[in-house]
Amino acid sequence: MQTTETTQRIVLASRPVGAPTLENFRLEELPIGQPGPGQMLLRTLWLSLDPYMRGRMSDAPSYAKPVGIGDVMEGGTVSEVLTSNAPRFAKGDIVVGRTGWQTYALSDGSGLQKVDPGRAPISAALGVLGMPGMTAYVGLLEIGKPAVGETVVVAAASGAVGSVVGQIARIKGARAVGIAGGPDKCRFVIEKLGFDACIDHRAPDLAARLASACPKGIDVYFENVGGAVFEAVFPLLNPFARIPVCGLISMYNATSLSPGPILLPHLMRAILTKRLTFRGFIVSDFAARYGDFVRDVSAWVGERRIKYREDIVEGLENTPRALIGLLRGENFGKLLVRVAPAST
Ligand code: NDP
Repeated sequence: MQTTETTQRIVLASRPVGAPTLENFRLEELPIGQPGPGQMLLRTLWLSLDPYMRGRMSDAPSYAKPVGIGDVMEGGTVSEVLTSNAPRFAKGDIVVGRTGWQTYALSDGSGLQKVDPGRAPISAALGVLGMPGMTAYVGLLEIGKPAVGETVVVAAASGAVGSVVGQIARIKGARAVGIAGGPDKCRFVIEKLGFDACIDHRAPDLAARLASACPKGIDVYFENVGGAVFEAVFPLLNPFARIPVCGLISMYNATSLSPGPILLPHLMRAILTKRLTFRGFIVSDFAARYGDFVRDVSAWVGERRIKYREDIVEGLENTPRALIGLLRGENFGKLLVRVAPAST
């Protein structure tokens, strides 16, 4: 039985130029619809905030359609089924899907999967056991292919994807070197996540510190960030290094692309002479590996070989501010909004 007659949602009010601002979003309140035949009413419990959302706010050509002006912002959610006319789901089920930045949603069940609350806290379905965890798993294992004793470097190392990349690298017998913003994040990456080293990308001598943390060079660079971090990594790449290009968050708010000191001919020459493999990917390219991901990463989380940290923001109304902060490195761990408590 629903307990409220209105739903809140956050829509895209305008497209940002540079970093998003609060004015780019609008909070709306409207009546909740009733589920029709085959539909169900969902209450959002958790909303995932992810860097790709900055891309959806822009109408520049990309791999996915932008959010329209006035449309609900896209986002992964964990929700509770309040009433169901859908055959696969029952009242009380917990489901993960993409119902967006809103407190309630109507759904016919397409794209939704049940979450087993016995396996892990349900919010993990948006982080380590969800899209970011799967991104780390497939990007590292399908493209990076770390071998025992090799050096794997990943930036945004305390975050949702990077934290899992380094821990899987260690499980596979590689050395894991993180790059993160600030001493607290670096300490966490080494002491709690078990990386071999972690370098603060704000340090003025980033390149020298990274070189001394990687005395045998870099065999796998899992690219999350781009920009100055890539500049420091590039000279250290070993022959036959693999570079899964997962994200370029340092550029997401850029209004124009700076050529940077690595000129294209230098890059092309290194790709040839060092036989480097750069491969961009989107997690959905590897959907066929979902079963393997769930099996392996659930086991590793259960054995405490993969640990994770969540950064929780309370209330849908605080979502825009939290996304703006994520693009500045203000989150510490997987960023989630607790939209409502579960009723059970
Ligand atoms: P995080 O939880 O790691 O949060 C983002 C982090 O990025 C910030 O905390 C900050 O960490 C870092 N950051 C932000 N701005 C900058 C900057 N200008 N320079 C350097 N670092 C910055 O996010 P995710 O783990 O969810 O995502 C990590 C990357 O993976 C992103 O690039 C994202 O787009 C990408 N991604 C790609 C997918 C794909 O299918 N290809 C799927 C999912 C994610 P710090 O303070 O440590 O620098």
